[in-house]
Amino acid sequence: MSTFFQRIALGSMLFWASASLCLAQDKPPQPTGPVRPSDLVELVKLDPSIKLDIRYATSNNFVGKPVYPEARAFLQRPAAMALLSAHRWLKSQGYGILVHDAYRPWAITKIFWDITPADKKIFVADPAVGSKHNRGCAVDISLYELSTGKVVEMPGDYDEMSERSFVTYTGGTEQQRKLRDLLRHAMEREGEFFVYPEEWWHYDFKDSKHYAVQDIPFSAISKSKVKQKQ
Ligand SMILES: [Zn+2]
Repeated sequence: MSTFFQRIALGSMLFWASASLCLAQDKPPQPTGPVRPSDLVELVKLDPSIKLDIRYATSNNFVGKPVYPEARAFLQRPAAMALLSAHRWLKSQGYGILVHDAYRPWAITKIFWDITPADKKIFVADPAVGSKHNRGCAVDISLYELSTGKVVEMPGDYDEMSERSFVTYTGGTEQQRKLRDLLRHAMEREGEFFVYPEEWWHYDFKDSKHYAVQDIPFSAISKSKVKQKQ
């Protein structure tokens, strides 16, 4: 009898130990110091001429199926204002910003990490740390031509896991490299954003460390704002 109960007790201990291990991996990392309150702003509401092509709301992404229920893009307010400033400067050059991704709920970062092979993990963020996208402080972008509305060609495709994604890649056409470098100049000229050297499309906002990793869905963002103000 006692052996039977001991087995049950051991079994239940193992169950809870493995459950808590799973929980540890299934939760976003918590901030280690004080953070600023989240103030996520929807980019197209700031300026409707910022175009969206949210690939993660479609099957046209490296996962091969939609992982966002809605094609929307949010950034923390100071980052959104800096993006707007870059967009306005680009207009003087004949271009506008096209957004592929901005704030990304943490659970999606975890999906990306889990399905990416080890040798490609430089292209995805470790969920144990969280991505700057999860903080609403990173944005994936390209350019479109103001005169035609057409998306420009860059030296490589968005989310491509190859050397063509590196900002130092010397292949492609001169025009493609020129446009990649123009985008970088527009984003870095005021010192607010910095390119991720392995991805020509990814820009980190300078104050990302002041914001917490979040896992709220797009549909809950405006509701959580109302809650914060109460
Ligand atoms: Zn990115």
